[in-house]
Amino acid sequence: MNKLENKVAVITGGGGVLCSTMAHHLADLGCKVAILDLNKSNAENVAQAIKAKGGEAIGVEANVLKSDSLTQAKAAINEMYGTCDILVNGAGGNHPKGTTTKTHFEMEDLAKQEDLTTFFDLDPEGIKFVFDLNFIGTLLPCQIFTKDMLGKEGCTIINISSMNAFTPLTKIPAYSGAKAAISNFTQWMAVHFSKVGIRVNALAPGFFLTEQNRRLLTEENGELTARGNTIIEHTPMGKFGEPEDLLGTLEWLAGPGASFVTGVTIPIDGGFSAFSGV
Ligand code: NAD
Repeated sequence: MNKLENKVAVITGGGGVLCSTMAHHLADLGCKVAILDLNKSNAENVAQAIKAKGGEAIGVEANVLKSDSLTQAKAAINEMYGTCDILVNGAGGNHPKGTTTKTHFEMEDLAKQEDLTTFFDLDPEGIKFVFDLNFIGTLLPCQIFTKDMLGKEGCTIINISSMNAFTPLTKIPAYSGAKAAISNFTQWMAVHFSKVGIRVNALAPGFFLTEQNRRLLTEENGELTARGNTIIEHTPMGKFGEPEDLLGTLEWLAGPGASFVTGVTIPIDGGFSAFSGV
């Protein structure tokens, strides 16, 4: 029997690009997968696709920023599949209002230009949106679903961090800070829940060409932007990741092979975080 057979996996942001691929993989491994997403039809479509190939899945509309919504989702999942064994906190992302236009501030930027967002123009509401989505949006599902895990064996949480947790990426201070908080929280949770056997780890994907960052990394004609080129130049393996590149590490962290692994954030980045640039 597969080691993850019949485990109940809850995956937030499961209607999105990376997490839908993870949801498929967990279902292929025999998990019963609950796909939680703010976007109900995306969640249902992913569940439908899993069921169409013989897997077990439900799509559930849920907002990771609202405890009530998560509690309702948990009730539906508990009724259908039982209690949660694996929680993947995938909902997250950046917001343009937490992003500066330029990499470096220069004196001439003080002369106001309409199309320029400097550090001084960053909107605290945009920053707050990003911190909430990534950090509170991980904290609340942990609060709701770890209750299912207490007293059970083999339960685990997998958070989604990012490259910018190790060293901030230019232009995106809110997203960088929020993902650093996720890596830090992963360690905190790992220690906090160590006595009740819940392992807590994180994946730190490098650069994956997804809907959120496609406009930052590629031009309309498909060619790389300057930022896209810089990323490839700083990725020793010389390419963007494919969602499937996350699956081996996900499977390992979710299963008994990682039984003594807790509190780590694993870069899956083609060497980006190992390379100083020279
Ligand atoms: P995506 O936008 O395709 O998926 C995110 C999903 O989260 C969407 O389906 C969205 O509807 C859902 N969502 C948004 N707000 C929500 C909320 N309040 N409640 C519930 N669901 C909500 O993004 P992706 O590129 O697949 O990224 C998935 C995760 O991986 C995110 O945490 C992202 O920050 C992280 N990540 C992505 C990359 C990358 O290169 N794409 C790199 C590093 C980390």
